[in-house]
Amino acid sequence: MSFEKPVSPKKTNFQGLATLAVHAGEARQKAEHSITDPIFCAATYTFEHTQAVLEYLDKKVPREEYGRYGNPTEKVVERKLAALEGGETAILFSTGMAAIAIFLLAKLQAGDEIVLFDECYHRTREFCTKVLGRFGVVTHLVPACEYQKMESAITPRTKLLMSESPTNPHMSVVDLEQFVAIGRRHGIETVIDATLATPYNLRPLDWGVDYVIHSCTKYLAGHNDLLAGVVIGRTEALEPVRKLRGVIGAISDPMNIYLLLRGLKTFALRMERHNQNGLAVAQFLANHPRIERVYYPGLPSHPYYEVARRTMRGFGGLVTFLVKDADAQQTARIVDALRIPRIGPSFGGVESLVEQPIIMSYHDFTPAERRAVGIYDNMIRLSCGVEDPQDLIADLQQALEK
Ligand SMILES: *Cc1c(COP(=O)(O)O)cnc(C)c1O
Repeated sequence: MSFEKPVSPKKTNFQGLATLAVHAGEARQKAEHSITDPIFCAATYTFEHTQAVLEYLDKKVPREEYGRYGNPTEKVVERKLAALEGGETAILFSTGMAAIAIFLLAKLQAGDEIVLFDECYHRTREFCTKVLGRFGVVTHLVPACEYQKMESAITPRTKLLMSESPTNPHMSVVDLEQFVAIGRRHGIETVIDATLATPYNLRPLDWGVDYVIHSCTKYLAGHNDLLAGVVIGRTEALEPVRKLRGVIGAISDPMNIYLLLRGLKTFALRMERHNQNGLAVAQFLANHPRIERVYYPGLPSHPYYEVARRTMRGFGGLVTFLVKDADAQQTARIVDALRIPRIGPSFGGVESLVEQPIIMSYHDFTPAERRAVGIYDNMIRLSCGVEDPQDLIADLQQALEK
């Protein structure tokens, strides 16, 4: 789906992503004339003689040294992800959380402050408040998309403004123009975790955001079969992040990286179907008498529809909804009655997944704490996979009739 209005300040956006997904970052002729990049199961890389070691250390020859610092297939994936995002450099990590944690550890020091929109992945919130807090970094949580509150939380010590977009499970969409403008006014760098949007649907760097983070575990890898994360931005600014990754060792193993490379080949194709399925399911639910509310930025009823329309190409496969007059048990019965989606955390894979947030992600919250963060007993989060939309809709229809 596409809109007439330009969806990004740069006219060239969203062009050729399917071609980039297949070819970007790869050499045209590969080892042994293979069409695929090989897997290098090497913990270490050897040198012909001492002079070769010295030349490498003097940075004369780009090559591999030791598995904790990278491997050849990983460099291909990093170049492909940077190309897809339209960024200079991508750094790959073992998980999305490793990307977030090491990025923040590399960028911040004791006494620094960070302002974070509160509708974010609960582990990100936990890392900022509980872990970074122990090292003297202060996190200010402000309500999602409340730009004045974000600006008011800035102090002379603020070093980063951070948000997800869209957020999960409420699907709030950040107005990147306003977000970046706040950063620029105060000379503070901005970072967006765009895992839910992917570069197929949102181009944060084109709006002037400094860094984009993704959990590649979700749409980018796309097959619910691996974990990975990435940070994308300017090469020089990310150098400390790459160094710290090498110190900590949060790097994927070679097999995992190969699977990610393979998954990325069909990234654009999959996103097209996720977008179609998400919208079709959201529209079906919005018109169903048993549904109280649907959270999907592609619906005109969504509070962030206008922002989403202006900035996104499509709205992804994640649909959150409330069942009318249902308690927690009645809602669970609908989840259990679904035949196609499996019950599980995560999203973005080819298989549809479903969960009741009060059970899956907010089990240890009190009812008051849940209400405070907008998590309700009758809430269901559905991650539409790439199945046929009519099958997903028929499945929801039968489950809602029970
Ligand atoms: C899943 C997720 C993460 C964490 O990624 P992992 O690969 O599971 O470590 C971070 N941010 C968002 C928005 C996510 O959905």
